[in-house]
Amino acid sequence: MTFPPSAPPLTDVKRVLGVFAHPDDADFGAGGTVARWVAEGLEVSYLLVTRGDSGGFDDTPRDQMPLLREAEQRAAAAEVGVAEVEFLDGYRDGYLTPTIELRRDITRAIRRFRPDRILTTSPLRRWERIAGPSHPDHLAVGEATTCAVYPDARNPFAFPELGADGLEPWVVREVWYSGGPNPDHVVDVTDTFDVKLAALARHATQTRHLDDLRRVLRSRMELLARDAGLPEGHLAEAFTIIHTA
Ligand SMILES: [Zn+2]
Repeated sequence: MTFPPSAPPLTDVKRVLGVFAHPDDADFGAGGTVARWVAEGLEVSYLLVTRGDSGGFDDTPRDQMPLLREAEQRAAAAEVGVAEVEFLDGYRDGYLTPTIELRRDITRAIRRFRPDRILTTSPLRRWERIAGPSHPDHLAVGEATTCAVYPDARNPFAFPELGADGLEPWVVREVWYSGGPNPDHVVDVTDTFDVKLAALARHATQTRHLDDLRRVLRSRMELLARDAGLPEGHLAEAFTIIHTA
């Protein structure tokens, strides 16, 4: 199972909502692209399902981790120019599945932010590289978000309790998936690579032990750019784009 070829990106997008399982997912997968969108005038917000309470690589007290990582994500979002960051409560890092409750919480955020475009992680596993992008939480959030885009957010009869909150149905017209198999829509992020790195540096609990993060990211992103036919030395992030309307 894989994605169809990407649709061309919509040209009249004003608002984007990024939906992610953990602090740092947005910045690792799409930080350069988000910084570009903000520079182009798009309004970008994030919805985080967890505070990454199972993350970290040292002896930081475990009860501190969610507090640290929420602050890190807010600081990283400020680096790339993301306007608003909302965290859901009640979900644990490592325990996510695409439940009806998660679909309802994402639907609530979609109806509140009213995005034209959603950015999220792929619900499809990348079998050739199961560590990282194919973390089960990423797959679960990708699946729950896709279900929230269609049918939940646009169906006036889904989750009637949201209607009681005054949240009207909303049609998200486009979804960008990161971390999936064979991503074929490449964004040239050469000019925003340093912003992406600055955002990743804010995720200190996740990145301070990585001495060669710049070099590793550069070589991976150069390869993506080269495979897409971009000029030598350019850097890229890659996605799959689906139209949903
Ligand atoms: Zn993650």
